[in-house]
Amino acid sequence: MSKKNSAPEIDARKNQDDAVRERRTCKDCGTCFIITIGEANWYESRGLKLPARCPSCRKKRRVLAGNEKN
Ligand SMILES: [Zn+2]
Repeated sequence: MSKKNSAPEIDARKNQDDAVRERRTCKDCGTCFIITIGEANWYESRGLKLPARCPSCRKKRRVLAGNEKN
């Protein structure tokens, strides 16, 4: 009866962003990972392609790239 306090519109948008847009297999380690609608929107709004690697491989590559600068 008293769930009227939370804003339903914001909840709906958040849920949509978390919804699975695509399932992919990581190019590097073969792990299945998902791309949410929110992520896909983030990449598309920057004109980027959706990632081909799982989050942990992306992170690893970022670290390696940073180290190469030294
Ligand atoms: Zn991976």
